[in-house]
Amino acid sequence: MAWDFETDPDYQKLLDWADAFVRDEVEPLDLVLGDPYDKADPRHRALVRPLQQQVRDRGLWACHLGPELGGQGYGQVKLALLNEILGRSRWAPSVFGCQAPDSGNAEIIALFGTPAQQERYLRPLLDGEISSSYSMTEPHAGADPTLFTTRAVRDGDEWVINGEKWFSSNAKHAAFIIVMAVTDPEVSAYEGMSMFIVPAGTPGLEIVRNVGVGPGHEGREGSHGYLRYNDVRVPADHLLGTEGGAFAIAQTRLGGGRIHHAMRTIAQVRRAFDMMCERAVSRQTRWGPLAKLQLTREKIADSWIEIEQFRLLVLRTAWLIDKHRDYRRVRKDIAAVKAAMPKVLHDVVQRAMHLHGALGVSNEMPFAAMLLGAEALAIADGPTEVHKITLARQLLKEYEPVPGLWPTAHLPTRRAAARERYAETLEEALEHAIGNQ
Ligand SMILES: Cc1cc2nc3c(=O)[nH]c(=O)nc-3n(C[C@H](O)[C@H](O)[C@H](O)COP(=O)(O)OP(=O)(O)OC[C@H]3O[C@@H](n4cnc5c(N)ncnc54)[C@H](O)[C@@H]3O)c2cc1C
Repeated sequence: MAWDFETDPDYQKLLDWADAFVRDEVEPLDLVLGDPYDKADPRHRALVRPLQQQVRDRGLWACHLGPELGGQGYGQVKLALLNEILGRSRWAPSVFGCQAPDSGNAEIIALFGTPAQQERYLRPLLDGEISSSYSMTEPHAGADPTLFTTRAVRDGDEWVINGEKWFSSNAKHAAFIIVMAVTDPEVSAYEGMSMFIVPAGTPGLEIVRNVGVGPGHEGREGSHGYLRYNDVRVPADHLLGTEGGAFAIAQTRLGGGRIHHAMRTIAQVRRAFDMMCERAVSRQTRWGPLAKLQLTREKIADSWIEIEQFRLLVLRTAWLIDKHRDYRRVRKDIAAVKAAMPKVLHDVVQRAMHLHGALGVSNEMPFAAMLLGAEALAIADGPTEVHKITLARQLLKEYEPVPGLWPTAHLPTRRAAARERYAETLEEALEHAIGNQ
């Protein structure tokens, strides 16, 4: 019997350490430091490096990777339990060496990169020395990558890239960008696109502007790069993976990215739940605390049920990834997690915000940003609709159309079949009963 909902005691001790460490040492950084991807910020080196060393000493650095790449090889279930803690803090993933999008970029360079690419780009990324960016979405097309038009053309020993990309997160701090481009427009998009590594500062790579999420503040730029590739030349050996292999690489990258976001979302949604419960027992009405009111209790009960359902779905999917070691076999499960994630975060945050009244919608509480975060989760890595469609398509593969007019569950048809099947026995039983009267 392998179903087991307990964490082994040794790992639990590490989780307990991580929990206290994040609360005491890392969460305060969220309030004083800027962008975790800005490695040039001198405060980063002074405040963050010593914390990263403590994480390494505990054996919790880069838990998403195998030991051959400097990670722990713990697998997705253990990573999920850790990410449930790290997701509480903006800085924690960087302190633990598993922040997106670097984690996904590291994974694909590890899997598809040449030794030279790994030495030049993966090693410093894993060491937390540099940041990276992933450049796939275009201004005119996101959810449907078959519509991408950014083009890469081979010219001697180089590839020349032209086109526009949109929402390339952290491009302004990235030491390199992984970009997806059409290399063969004559074949289907699934075979005609390739990935390239473009070092920052390559001539022709232009940041048109950095777009922010949510209401902008005067003079403060966002972190999602609107990029223009104007005859950007990279050496031929900067092709990542095979020519035409971009879709397979993207699936690997996005599969891991989606489940990791979901793990961190559990932390966010629990945080909102804790704030809701604290408010419920603290805020007084003429009948006592809010917690005494039935409609408040319903909010708390509904939220707990939704969080636990979501958490089980995430952990089960993590377990399936560890079991199969092939994202294609858990496509349906990851799509379900991705579709469920923004809804549970939105619904619980909205209730928590509402129970805080005016304070809840004010800029003195984190709810507005969390609510916007839920909406961003519903779009980034593909909109919810697309994931629901994927899930339904996979589920429907297991069903066949019924041959006749009536569904297989049609009661009169089933009753007639059952009567026919047991006709002889029923007849005999009836005759016996009459005979005994
Ligand atoms: C915070 C954030 C960070 C991001 N980071 C990156 C990054 O680092 N790199 C990168 O390349 N991209 C990034 N993106 C972009 C993201 O991947 C795209 O926004 C996403 O794929 C959707 O594309 P789109 O914005 O063009 O929306 P569209 O494709 O225009 O879709 C808009 C809406 O149309 C509807 N829709 C679209 N297609 C379908 C369909 N098939 N069925 C039903 N309804 C549909 C949905 O309601 C959808 O929300 C990021 C986005 C966000 C919000």
